[in-house]
Amino acid sequence: MTKVIALFNQSGGVGKSTLTMNLGYALAKKKQKVLLLDLDPQASLTTFMGIDTYDLDKTIYDAIVGEEDLPIYSQLHLMDLVPSNINLSGAEIELVSALMRELKLKEAIAPYLSKYDFILIDCPPSLGILSIISLVASTHLLVPIQCQFKAFQGTDLLLNTVAKLRKSVNKNLAFAGFMPTMYDGRTAQESRTYEAIKEQLFPLATVFEPIPKSIAFADATEKRVPLAIYKPKHPAIKIFNKISQQLIKL
Ligand code: ADP
Ligand code: MG
Repeated sequence: MTKVIALFNQSGGVGKSTLTMNLGYALAKKKQKVLLLDLDPQASLTTFMGIDTYDLDKTIYDAIVGEEDLPIYSQLHLMDLVPSNINLSGAEIELVSALMRELKLKEAIAPYLSKYDFILIDCPPSLGILSIISLVASTHLLVPIQCQFKAFQGTDLLLNTVAKLRKSVNKNLAFAGFMPTMYDGRTAQESRTYEAIKEQLFPLATVFEPIPKSIAFADATEKRVPLAIYKPKHPAIKIFNKISQQLIKL
């Protein structure tokens, strides 16, 4: 069965888009067929993957609002991508009055499930309709989380939203896990927070090994390639490989 995984955290700048690309690449290297969906009007993932957002003919917007086929860009770093651009910001308003709007993404991807082992959804940094339709379309939820105290405040809100969805529109939504990101283990505060995250969140789901903070991530995205292409020996690559192995076993 295809695993549809939403990378979701309503905070911005926690590394969702970076993780979506790098985890997708690690899975693709393991011979998994991977489709990435950019659900963020800011379109970081689309840009990171090397696509210019301005001259796009079709985006995820046309599939969700216009109910057209998914516009798939094939074989970018071994993966397929459905891009986004600023047009998608209109969807929040346009979907307000749509019938069964929660199902819009689930229905859009349904015809493609048999083609992929993994569909990774890069969610926007909000709890709005674009995140909701992403979570409704997903089988699993992966939560990037920074090892800073403020991360806990956001987590309560996130868990409440997930609990509501599980009671109503997506009873089968499972946790893939929490992914500590941009981790600097040299600072006492971050390592303390990492321990606290493990302790508090472990009962809910796996807390994966943290992805280290490293300027190489920004350098790789500037070059518009996954880290593993830019710097194959970077220590984070082993961690992505381990996590992708765990995701395959889900
Ligand atoms: P989000 O999608 O949650 O908004 P991004 O993936 O766009 O977050 O990342 C935000 C910024 O942080 C980007 O400039 C990115 O290059 C940088 N970044 C992401 N992961 C790391 C990391 N592990 N270490 C250092 N910088 C990172
Ligand atoms: Mg993003």
